Amino acid sequence: MKVLKFGGTSVGSAERMKGVNELINTEELKSQQRIIVLSAMSGTTNNLVHISELLYAKNYPQAALVITEMELKYRKVIGELYQTDEIKEKVSHLLDTHFGHIRTLAKEKERFSSLKERILLAKGEQLSTAMFQYFLEENKVKSVLLDALEFMRIDENNEPELDFISENLKIELEKYPDNLLFITQGYICKNSFGETDNLKRGGSDYSASLIGAAIYADEIQIWTDIDGMHNNDPRVVDKTVPIAELSFDEAAELAYFGAKILHPSTITPAKARNIPVRLLNTMAPEMKGTVIASKSASSDIKAIAAKDNITMVNIRSTRMLLAYGFLRTLFAVFEKYKTPIDMITTSEICVSVTIDNTTNLDKIIAELGEFSSVEITDNQSIICVVGDSMGEHIGYANKIFSSLEHVLIKMISYGGSKNNVSILIDSKDKKDTLQALNKGLFNL
Ligand code: ADP
Ligand code: ASP
Ligand code: MG
Repeated sequence: MKVLKFGGTSVGSAERMKGVNELINTEELKSQQRIIVLSAMSGTTNNLVHISELLYAKNYPQAALVITEMELKYRKVIGELYQTDEIKEKVSHLLDTHFGHIRTLAKEKERFSSLKERILLAKGEQLSTAMFQYFLEENKVKSVLLDALEFMRIDENNEPELDFISENLKIELEKYPDNLLFITQGYICKNSFGETDNLKRGGSDYSASLIGAAIYADEIQIWTDIDGMHNNDPRVVDKTVPIAELSFDEAAELAYFGAKILHPSTITPAKARNIPVRLLNTMAPEMKGTVIASKSASSDIKAIAAKDNITMVNIRSTRMLLAYGFLRTLFAVFEKYKTPIDMITTSEICVSVTIDNTTNLDKIIAELGEFSSVEITDNQSIICVVGDSMGEHIGYANKIFSSLEHVLIKMISYGGSKNNVSILIDSKDKKDTLQALNKGLFNL
């Protein structure tokens, strides 16, 4: 069984949806059971986020305007995607229902809430999958639309519950023993209170990987708008090239440290069940893309990624001098406020850590302040150089740092992972740093 996920651009227009139909019904795939995970059409989730912001700000007229514009875009797709009046009518009714519901959620006088926001954010994937299912129906392609809210669930720590997902997805699939093609929503889920929730922005990749792990798929395909994982961020650097093979660990580091092509957690479920993940390009399906599996071909530097919006917390205390247990006290503060630490460096009386979730930073500073002096620097970026067994070869560190002679480096993390060397820089130096590493490490 295969899982194929199509991102926003890949389902972003009538033309693209028709393309998806071809990609999921090739001679090779036709006879296999497959689950298709769809994102919202491109721009939709951004629109829904924008509407939520307007509703929180009580800007009802503007919210109503954005909803109307969005509805018009969807109405236009009806004329482009479907042929028969019968299906056009059904889709028109579908849009009536969803946009009617969106307007109810956006009602003046009734306070907008986090739950309403999450129900609103789910609309994008609910629309794209229902519309695609109607397209398949019109084209006599047998398929079943599965409601992800029936099986995708996160716990009270926002962590997916793989056992629950496996059990409940199995129940759904067993309702249709003879069916080969299933369509479902990425991104959306239920939480531990049974409310509609989501796996955070870009979460459809994560949905696909969780579904793949849940059914022990033989492959997870992530179809997007680029020919695989590139060696550097194509949005920032002029010349980048695709990487043919990556190990799970390498890909996980790149995703976690900012390679937007994958949601940060995508690799975890696939790695746990040793399921290869293939990154492919909807616009150029003949390209090889990237295969992510337990082993990668060569031990070399593979790629660079950057994670923005990082805050450096520098903690200084003479109590640390020759003392044991200090780090535990310090980490306990971050743990108490559920704030993950990315990088850490220590010296005799100082510890520097980086975090990207600053929700509880004030409380953390106050508690750390009881036994140390704390300094905060924001607008930082972690630059992560990833490769296989880098820590076991001579010369990589030299190659990295000689490329960056002109950059002010704030922190260095080397040796923690065999696959990764991380450095912290000011975000204003990011483009320069990525370009310099591209030249120094890849000669590009
Ligand atoms: P989708 O909507 O299909 O999920 P995304 O926009 O989330 O697509 O991810 C694909 C985009 O990720 C690419 O268009 C590219 O600009 C960006 N990206 C960032 N870093 C990388 C990288 N290292 N390799 C490939 N793409 C990357
Ligand atoms: N539609 C969601 C987003 O834009 C999820 C995804 O595309 O992966 O974040
Ligand atoms: Mg994405």
